Amino acid sequence: MNIATGSSLKDLQAAESKLLLQTYERNPLLFISGEGVYLRDEQGNDYLDLLSGIGVCALGYDHPAITQAIATQSRQILHTSNLFFHRGTPELALRLTEITGMDRVFFCNSGTEAWEAALKLARAHAGLLRSEGKTIGTKFLALEHSFHGRTMGSVATTHKEKYRSPFAPVMPDVEFVPFDDVAALRAAFSSDVCAIAIEVIQGEGGINPVSPEFLAAARELCDSTGALLLLDEIQSGMGRTGKWCAYQHYGIHPDVTTLAKPLGGGVPVGAMLCTEEAGRAITPGMHGTTFGGNPLAIAVAIAVIDAMKQQKLLSHVEEVGGYFLSRLQELQHKHSAIKEVRGRGLMIGIELDSADLAKEILSGMFARRIVLNRTHETVLRFLPPFILQREHVDQAIAALDELLTLQSKPNAALAGEVVNG
Ligand SMILES: *Cc1c(COP(=O)(O)O)cnc(C)c1O
Repeated sequence: MNIATGSSLKDLQAAESKLLLQTYERNPLLFISGEGVYLRDEQGNDYLDLLSGIGVCALGYDHPAITQAIATQSRQILHTSNLFFHRGTPELALRLTEITGMDRVFFCNSGTEAWEAALKLARAHAGLLRSEGKTIGTKFLALEHSFHGRTMGSVATTHKEKYRSPFAPVMPDVEFVPFDDVAALRAAFSSDVCAIAIEVIQGEGGINPVSPEFLAAARELCDSTGALLLLDEIQSGMGRTGKWCAYQHYGIHPDVTTLAKPLGGGVPVGAMLCTEEAGRAITPGMHGTTFGGNPLAIAVAIAVIDAMKQQKLLSHVEEVGGYFLSRLQELQHKHSAIKEVRGRGLMIGIELDSADLAKEILSGMFARRIVLNRTHETVLRFLPPFILQREHVDQAIAALDELLTLQSKPNAALAGEVVNG
């Protein structure tokens, strides 16, 4: 094993295959720096990044607001624990409650922790209602093709069998309802339910937006019993769709929402936000975290939100995202292999007619130095940094057009051909 500073990709692959728990089949790419919407590999090649580390690096790479916040905060204090006050905590909470319309915030370190907090809050809130004489149970309704994270509670509300069954028994009392099926939701709902869990736009499940009717029905059902509406905005939130939260497109207000991925612009941070009513259920000592809301993460999240406002990135995401969608729809007219184009803002998926084709197009895009990923087998997913420009969209569309044209011809070698150096 040959591992030292400046190791080659081959050395790293060999070392990791022996040293790491094999949770990922990584793409054979090694990025060492980045600037704007470009990633740079160890050979000095630049890649157009349309994935931003799974929707995380919203301001791209080497953004001065982020690097400055990290430098400044790291010289002051990195960590004090939640046993003490920190100046940034209420500053970020104020910003988050203003942009989401929620009342209270719990800070944590990741998406799944934010979702765990949401699940625990829902159980605790139902318990509080029972103690006040209401009839309400402990069951969660979640949707087919949902993804809410990998910890025991989150994974129990995540639909994919492969993520849950090896770890059985996961948290009990979860029922999955067919996606966007209002009648099925109504049939599954009863006073046994403590919460309905929904991603407003499913991410890992293949970029599936719920309909306004479905979200309205979920809201109405929850209101009828005091159950909580939990909207997971970990992938769709923080401006990804052109609004701070995707539910703001629907005019429907949740009881609880969760944020993470882009919140820290690359630094791990998550947040669970709730209404005053839901927040009544939690008292000191019931829930907590050592690292959550750590001063470094908080300082960076504040910098991300302020930079987004200053650079007017919400309207930019709406504009460039609309352009991206319309260019993809043009491609769909030209190539029958594209079954559907879905999404909003810069959260976009294109469904292809086979998993093999999706794999081939993906490696062809990597060969053309464009980064994206594949989810739900047949869906190519775009979650680019919010600073993406039209010229980058044009570059991606030209590459996709070329690859789809090539694949329609037999014996074409998609992955091997690299264009424009
Ligand atoms: C990524 C994601 C999660 C889990 O976040 P982690 O930070 O990976 O734990 C939960 N919900 C949704 C919708 C996500 O996209």
